[in-house]
Amino acid sequence: MMDLSAAKTETSPPQAFDSVLIANRGEIALRVQRACRELGLKTIMICSEADRDADYLRSADTTICIGPASPGQSYLNKAAILLAMRLTGAGAVHPGYGFLSESAAFSEAVEEAGAVFIGPSADAIRTMGDKIAAKKAMMEAGVPCVPGPDSALPEDLAEVRKIAAEIGYPVIVKAAGGGGGRGMRVVRDEASLSDAVLVTREEARRAFGTPELYIEKFLQHPRHVEIQVLCDNHGGAVWVGLRDCSMQRRHQKIVEEGPAIGIPPDVAAFVGNRCVEACRQIGYRGVGTFEFLYEDGEFYFIEMNTRLQVEHPVTEMTSGVDLVRQQLLVALGQPLDITQADVVCNGHSIECRINAEDPYNFTPSPGLITGVQLPGGPGIRIDTHVTAGYRVPTHYDSLIAKLIVHAPTREQAIIRMRRALAEMQIDGVSTNLQLHREILDDPAFAEGGTDIHHLEHWLAARGAK
Ligand code: ADP
Repeated sequence: MMDLSAAKTETSPPQAFDSVLIANRGEIALRVQRACRELGLKTIMICSEADRDADYLRSADTTICIGPASPGQSYLNKAAILLAMRLTGAGAVHPGYGFLSESAAFSEAVEEAGAVFIGPSADAIRTMGDKIAAKKAMMEAGVPCVPGPDSALPEDLAEVRKIAAEIGYPVIVKAAGGGGGRGMRVVRDEASLSDAVLVTREEARRAFGTPELYIEKFLQHPRHVEIQVLCDNHGGAVWVGLRDCSMQRRHQKIVEEGPAIGIPPDVAAFVGNRCVEACRQIGYRGVGTFEFLYEDGEFYFIEMNTRLQVEHPVTEMTSGVDLVRQQLLVALGQPLDITQADVVCNGHSIECRINAEDPYNFTPSPGLITGVQLPGGPGIRIDTHVTAGYRVPTHYDSLIAKLIVHAPTREQAIIRMRRALAEMQIDGVSTNLQLHREILDDPAFAEGGTDIHHLEHWLAARGAK
């Protein structure tokens, strides 16, 4: 095994930890591993039985198999991960995205066990995980929100009708504890309101453990625009540009890009600065993303993700800020070494999520990858854990690679992405590469600024052909 002590960090932080357990899998585990290595931190990767033979695990200093394939018994199994942490003496835990990354209880358990959770405090995760509390906090910080009260809906249906009428139909009823696009119902007129409230409340009680609901204006043709933030433990906080993630299918992002085009810089700066203010008010630390709907020139906050996101490379490409490295430095107790004035985004970046799935009917396509041909050349980045001989397991998300391009303009980025997609080939399993090639040829995408419904409409038209 390699001795990394000679490669110790050039920045010599007060070393709060010298090893990181990566509580995740696949491309993001590898991404975190790379950032750790560049800082001279030792890495411990956990894996399930389904992943134990994967090549990417070899990049870690130590790997430890923590349980069977089922996520509940491995990547979501807090007790097993905490045990791995103790057995390996890990000084910190990086949760990646998904799995336990937004679990306040996990963050707390890690810290109680004496290690550093690489993410915000359990309190901040809890506040932002409760959508009503989050909306309240955002309104207090002056972040623009969707019209509607920042409090739970009353039980009394007559009261609810009054609130909805004040907002104006259509409205959307949402569960305070909702997530993953679940626990929401659009209501177009008063006649359907009470049923929608009762059904959503029951669903919320069962799925999210709290029956609390709230209501807001339903925006009909918004874009999804999000703002990346980065905060330290010493009051330092910056926002690092905007991303547009409107190309979604069933609330899953497929293509992301940055910056979000057509948004006046002064408007973006105003909202970005409000996000930073909100972070200061809630004592936020680490990286995070404020998600907005953007319609007719206005921003409307919908939720905050208190973790690193899949699409973070888009921001890294345009800003030159290594977000994972920054996460680690913040966790080590360092103050940010950049101020808002240092954050300058250049050019345009696009990310395509390459999934092992059928490019037409989207059924997952697990199995053995027999060949991989990756694109190269200027402005190309590929984040993947996959190589020829890798077997895509059936148990997890189907993301196998992220193809990211950067170019001086959006037009050039599109040309570059088309070129890269033409070069890329994966054999043995079906992938959505062909879907991406077609999306990149869509004139509406090329024009830019499409709303969150565009991809679904486009897919329906494509299916009908
Ligand atoms: P989740 O945590 O489940 O992802 P969000 O609040 O982020 O929930 O909403 C998920 C998606 O639902 C949004 O990306 C958007 O497509 C839609 N949505 C949520 N709130 C509204 C709204 N007020 N108007 C229109 N669409 C909405």
